[in-house]
Amino acid sequence: MLATAEALGRLLDAARRVDGRERVDTLDALDRVLAADVTSPLDVPPMHTSSMDGYAVRAADLAGATDDASVALPVSQRIPAGHAAEPLAAGTAARIFTGATVPPGADTVVMQEMAQVADDGRVAFAQTPAAGEWITRQGADIRRDSVILPAGTRLTPQALGLAASVGCAQLDVVRKVRVAIFFTGDELRMPGEPLEPGAIYNSNRFTLRALLAKLGCEVTDLGIVPDRLDTTRETLRRAAIEHDLILTCGGVSVGEEDHVKPAVEAEGRISMWQIAMKPGKPLAFGAVRRGASDGEAYFIGLPGNPVSSFCTFLLFVRPFLLRLAGVEHVAPRVHSMRADFSQKKGDRRNEFLRARVNEAGGLDLFENQSSAVLTSTVWGDGLIDNPPNHAISDGEIVRFIPFSELMR
Ligand code: AMP
Ligand code: MG
Repeated sequence: MLATAEALGRLLDAARRVDGRERVDTLDALDRVLAADVTSPLDVPPMHTSSMDGYAVRAADLAGATDDASVALPVSQRIPAGHAAEPLAAGTAARIFTGATVPPGADTVVMQEMAQVADDGRVAFAQTPAAGEWITRQGADIRRDSVILPAGTRLTPQALGLAASVGCAQLDVVRKVRVAIFFTGDELRMPGEPLEPGAIYNSNRFTLRALLAKLGCEVTDLGIVPDRLDTTRETLRRAAIEHDLILTCGGVSVGEEDHVKPAVEAEGRISMWQIAMKPGKPLAFGAVRRGASDGEAYFIGLPGNPVSSFCTFLLFVRPFLLRLAGVEHVAPRVHSMRADFSQKKGDRRNEFLRARVNEAGGLDLFENQSSAVLTSTVWGDGLIDNPPNHAISDGEIVRFIPFSELMR
């Protein structure tokens, strides 16, 4: 059996970024992956700006100002945001507003709360400001010609804002990864259909489709495929065309009714890995040929048990898909947290336990950790990554991977 880390390493080593990029409007680029570095053509802010409503002055003109002996200056100009500023005449102040250009010659902004407008129109200051106060200097955020977002960045809302702040109306992004998915199992029915004896609903279709949607994949759902070798092979051949990855669910063990492995072997190649993890049975990885000359599609076969397919997707398929999309950093951030429970016997496999953050800031464990009990994944906030053969004692610090990290 392979350790989870080793299996993940092998999977990621095999992932090649898809070819093809497109130019999209920055407004439509959320969650897309940059195909090229974004370099700033300008300083941000492009000029020194005021970060307060107040008065732009030369600090030296206010030397010695105190409560008892304030210094009054005439107001020589008014500078709202978005308007040009004239050089500041010595011995005067400029009325200025947040975001407005600091006039050449001024080195300080005094906030309006610290200034008193006198009857004669002059403005009095009762303190000597520190030079540079309340000014955001040109380039304080971004320097011209610097790389603000490297290729491989997955675009968050704030990254879109950053790109827009240097004037990028459009961005070069990697094309969407194309995934074909199907579900095996004669027992599967869709919600809305009657459930005759022996049948269950295809819950994994909903979970996995939503997980793929969150990753921004272009998905072709080929539905439920009966437990037969010929139909499974036929569906694989269809799925290989124009898709980067074929994802299957169920039928990947080694029982007589499990046809996915022999079907992939017939249509391509497969490596089955016994991964020492729980939940999660063997993970099947391989490729399916696309006819004679047109390369092949990656293949990943997930186990059918709902918690197993959910966890193996989060831990293996998600980072694999992100790598296909060109993302370099695919590891979730792991938190060190206190277990507020004990678990006497460790499993010989690496367990991923569904746990929830309690009000005391520790972790509670869901009582039923069976891989068929989907309730645990809704109750929980994430997975405790518990090493093989490790009993957990109350109060111990454990590795916790929040679902939020695994679904970004
Ligand atoms: P399998 O991996 O095909 O041996 O299936 C393992 C278990 O998961 C069986 O109890 C199946 O009925 C169940 N199962 C398989 N596929 C799904 C699915 N799409 N939705 C819900 N349960 C499933
Ligand atoms: Mg099955």
